[in-house]
Amino acid sequence: MAPKTTKCCAVPNCGKTQSFHRLPSDPNIMKEWMKFIFNEDPDRVSKNLVLCSLHFTWTSENSTK
Ligand SMILES: [Zn+2]
Repeated sequence: MAPKTTKCCAVPNCGKTQSFHRLPSDPNIMKEWMKFIFNEDPDRVSKNLVLCSLHFTWTSENSTK
C-alpha cells in the first residue's frame, strides 16, 4: 500500500514517482507546461504538481535558445 504522501508525475499515463522537478517560475513557460500536460491552460494549478525528469528533455530544447 502506497503512503498518502507519495507524489506522482502530473503527466497523464506517466505515473512516475521519482526524479521530480519543480515547475518553472516564469508564467509564460508555465503556460506552455500546462498545455503540454493538460492540453489547455487551467485557471488554477496545484502547487504540489510535479513532473518527472522524463519530460525535461522537452524544456531544455526550448531554453537553449
Ligand atoms: Zn512523468
